[in-house]
Amino acid sequence: MTTAALTAHTGVVIVGAGPTGLALAVTLATADVEFVILDRLAEGANTSRAAVVHARTLEVLDELGAAESLIARGKPITRFTVRDGSRRLITLPFDGLPTRYPYALMVPQNVTEAVLLDRLRALGRDVRRPHEVAGIVQDGDGVTVTLASGDVLRAGYVVGADGMHSVVRQASGIGFGGNAYDESFVLADVTMDWSPGAEEVSLTFAPAGLTVVAPLPGDRYRIVATVDDAPAAPDAEFVQRLLDQRAPGRATVTGLVWSSRFRVHHRVADRFRQDRLFLAGDAAHVHSPAGGQGMNTGIQDGFALGRALATDRLDDYDARRRPVAEKVVAFADRMTRIATTHNPVLRGARNIALPVLARIPAFRTRLATELAELNYR
Ligand SMILES: Cc1cc2nc3c(=O)[nH]c(=O)nc-3n(C[C@H](O)[C@H](O)[C@H](O)COP(=O)(O)OP(=O)(O)OC[C@H]3O[C@@H](n4cnc5c(N)ncnc54)[C@H](O)[C@@H]3O)c2cc1C
Repeated sequence: MTTAALTAHTGVVIVGAGPTGLALAVTLATADVEFVILDRLAEGANTSRAAVVHARTLEVLDELGAAESLIARGKPITRFTVRDGSRRLITLPFDGLPTRYPYALMVPQNVTEAVLLDRLRALGRDVRRPHEVAGIVQDGDGVTVTLASGDVLRAGYVVGADGMHSVVRQASGIGFGGNAYDESFVLADVTMDWSPGAEEVSLTFAPAGLTVVAPLPGDRYRIVATVDDAPAAPDAEFVQRLLDQRAPGRATVTGLVWSSRFRVHHRVADRFRQDRLFLAGDAAHVHSPAGGQGMNTGIQDGFALGRALATDRLDDYDARRRPVAEKVVAFADRMTRIATTHNPVLRGARNIALPVLARIPAFRTRLATELAELNYR
């Protein structure tokens, strides 16, 4: 925790030190731009949450000097397989992708945040916490940021990297259109015997919902599943029943490390900039975790916004990143709806079409490129 007095005037105030705010802070520190990064929590979150870092994000982290230490703590995976029950429909290979990082890196979000924080500290900067931002008012010369403690800061620009319920977005008046999915999402990190093995990410379609099983470092697996009616804290028995129903005979759960249930929204902010206020990460877009792209898109937003602020090309940010967010949200939505459709005709058509398309190399490469976010370079 850093409790020294805050500078009253600064170039940029970053509200929120999740992966988006940290990526932005490292980008600004590298470019010698004056900033303060605040978070209301006394320390960073220590839960697993987003578990995959895609190739494009690793390229960005490389530019920030953080890729190597993250890769050392993660597990690279080169295959993404889609099944309907036990029938394989398509396998997407990452190892042919045109990048220095031809894989998906499996690593819990708290580790990604810790690596970014280490990098920020190595550059001589740190997160200021616990400081909750309570009010933001902009005028022609700058922005006044009022903290819950009553302290006041002035800044040239303020960035909302403060998550889905962003106070910066609320202060900006920018709309956040979209909806919530009907189903809940269950997340669980477990130890288990899993017959497809620890070298692929697997997505299984079943009438009851989609199920992703992804290997994590430390002989764990991450389960992500849509469930009509899930308990708030799913236990090992719940996860075993779910896998027995959707992937029969493939899993024996031996322990539960962490679990969570949450409702997912798909929303994109109407604009990513309102004069001196900017939005990035979950403050600007939220979507289904089906493709594991929330945190990845946020880190790339932070990097792009840092570059825009450092080079004074402020309009570039909304112009470049909002269309990306719209595409990512639409892609995740399409994947979720295709995977969770209850319509037997659509399910049948999906299960016939995917294996046929899987024989076309260009189709497999296009899908793998989109998942890896390499089309957003
Ligand atoms: C249970 C769970 C599971 C998830 N699983 C996945 C997954 O499998 N794949 C995936 O891609 N994504 C997943 N996500 C989403 C992913 O975690 C987010 O996309 C990612 O954290 C976004 O990062 P961010 O930095 O934009 O926002 P956040 O991580 O939400 O960080 C916002 C920060 O702002 C701070 N803050 C908020 N308000 C204020 C304020 N007023 N003043 C000061 N500080 C403030 C908060 O304390 C927080 O540290 C999951 C999320 C949850 C909750």
